Amino acid sequence: MTPRPSTHNPITKSYAIDQITDIEQLRKVAHRMWEALVACRAQGEHSFRVAVGDDTCEPCQAAIDGDPDAFGCDHHRTWQRLVDRGFGSV
Ligand SMILES: [Zn+2]
Repeated sequence: MTPRPSTHNPITKSYAIDQITDIEQLRKVAHRMWEALVACRAQGEHSFRVAVGDDTCEPCQAAIDGDPDAFGCDHHRTWQRLVDRGFGSV
């Protein structure tokens, strides 16, 4: 497998994806990015529902209210780790 000619700027993730020649690495990147996308959606939905009062979550409500020592609930932090890992995959 050879790198794909890329139309993307060389400092972008899209360009880096076009340079992957190992199918297993490409699969690994795709899985991590998919997990990040799902986690991003779940995290955003949870935060929105807490913010508008449709769900109750004290740690996330404290973070939304601006408490500098609040970092969200365990679910929120897990989703954030998946998002960070996904964006750092390439
Ligand atoms: Zn929460």
